[in-house]
Amino acid sequence: MKTRIVFLLLLGLLTSACQPQPEPVYRQELFAFGTIIDITTQGTDTAEARRAVQAVDALYQQEHRDWHAWQRGALDDLNRAIAVGKPWKTDPSIVQLIRLGQKFERLSDGLFNPAIGELLALWGFQQDERPDGPPPPPAQIADWLSHKPSSLQLKIENMTVTSSNPHVRLDFGGFAKGYSVGKAVELLEQRGIHNLIVNAGGDLCLRGSRGGKAWRIGIRNPRANGVLATLALKGATCVFTSGDYERYFTFEGRRYHHILDPRTGYPATGTRSVTVIADDPALADAAATALFVAGAERWQAIAVRMGIRDVLRIDDQDTAWVTPRLARRITFDPAWKSIRIVPLEP
Ligand code: ADP
Ligand code: MG
Repeated sequence: MKTRIVFLLLLGLLTSACQPQPEPVYRQELFAFGTIIDITTQGTDTAEARRAVQAVDALYQQEHRDWHAWQRGALDDLNRAIAVGKPWKTDPSIVQLIRLGQKFERLSDGLFNPAIGELLALWGFQQDERPDGPPPPPAQIADWLSHKPSSLQLKIENMTVTSSNPHVRLDFGGFAKGYSVGKAVELLEQRGIHNLIVNAGGDLCLRGSRGGKAWRIGIRNPRANGVLATLALKGATCVFTSGDYERYFTFEGRRYHHILDPRTGYPATGTRSVTVIADDPALADAAATALFVAGAERWQAIAVRMGIRDVLRIDDQDTAWVTPRLARRITFDPAWKSIRIVPLEP
């Protein structure tokens, strides 16, 4: 027995000596925005990769403090000022996020609305603990709808924000993750790292390859553990998913999730998840949320308005709707039965 172990060890040494040394893969997890951020780099010296990831961590901790939608910090200060009708000088990153949010609200025809913080709070989605219902009384939802909060009601002069509507409460939850993944990738690239994945809880951007091979990305099954499809991707792109399984509560047998339809005040219906593949991570993140809200009737039209070509939408019957270009690159689990390839434009 002993000789056999030695033999195996020797064989191991021999094979590793004969093959070209694989370039180092470095992997580290960070924690911010209530999510694990998993960073993988390939082909960079481990010590250098570790230092770069430390810099990304510092960036994330700063963003967490500044952009948090309900903990005390720069965004919360601004929201409190808006609620009492006070102009408020805020910081440059928040101004940038407001401008981006306004763009996404316009492009999505208001289905993406970063000013719905009051509604999210009514539903219990602006708290650290998992909400457990009940849903808010219909009169409170009707009252919120009557105020019509919109990010387009904000004016920015220099760094000072003024709102014409005190019911605007900014919540960047629908695209800040994308924006910050983009910033993290920028930072890693500035440090000379060109093969990488920054994965924030399944939402990710990638660059380059894994030793010349494509990165393999799994897309989660919205109702069961495991993946429903995989993608092999190289180069520079991002994959973002919005799902009704991320944050929700069940009350009297019904699921109430965190993607709210600003037209009704209730969780958007008809969809379980939307995955968007695009170069710009903030856009991909916002579009996944917007197309989720757009539902069966409007997701294709909103994708076109937002400049998105690659979409996978899982509806409430577990049918996968996939756009033609993405269909050519995606591999579905053989157990996934219902797949419809549909063009974005008629
Ligand atoms: P996740 O990756 O966690 O599924 P999403 O990208 O789908 O996140 O964003 C969900 C978050 O977006 C919510 O928690 C909330 O902060 C915000 N949100 C919910 N509904 C909307 C909406 N209609 N427009 C913009 N933001 C929204
Ligand atoms: Mg999103």
